[in-house]
Amino acid sequence: MGEPVRVGIIICDRYRTCAGGKCLRALRQREGAFAAYQGREVELVGYTTCSGCPGGNIEYAPEEMKKNGAQVVHLATGMLVGYPPCPHIDAFRRFIPEKYGLEVVIGTHPIPQKYYLTHEHCGTWEDPEWPSRLRLTLTDERTRKAYD
Ligand code: SF4
Repeated sequence: MGEPVRVGIIICDRYRTCAGGKCLRALRQREGAFAAYQGREVELVGYTTCSGCPGGNIEYAPEEMKKNGAQVVHLATGMLVGYPPCPHIDAFRRFIPEKYGLEVVIGTHPIPQKYYLTHEHCGTWEDPEWPSRLRLTLTDERTRKAYD
């Protein structure tokens, strides 16, 4: 398998008590944004929250993750599916590579179907910037239902 890919995960602070069940399951099963690691070993080297709006921990957490070997920072799916979605996600996506030289991937586990349906009905994801943000986690209905 060669060298593992070392990843850190930053979650939305509104889910701060989350035990990481969906993210870790998706990582183990290489689903959602982790499908890119099919056939590769992955090591999780950091897991934390953004620390609350406007995401002050984004400024510091990637440094700690980098010291622990992180190459990629995943911004968790909760930032996409929360009500409302995180308004700062593009700023995070720009800042982390610029400041720390780490790759940023938007998303972790597949979007659960119940969130998908609500956002579809609310029209939250209709703006043109959304397809690229959802690209890795939209998956398919069967997979989304498995993450409800
Ligand atoms: S909405 Fe964004 S900035 Fe606010 S707590 Fe969630 S991830 Fe952090």
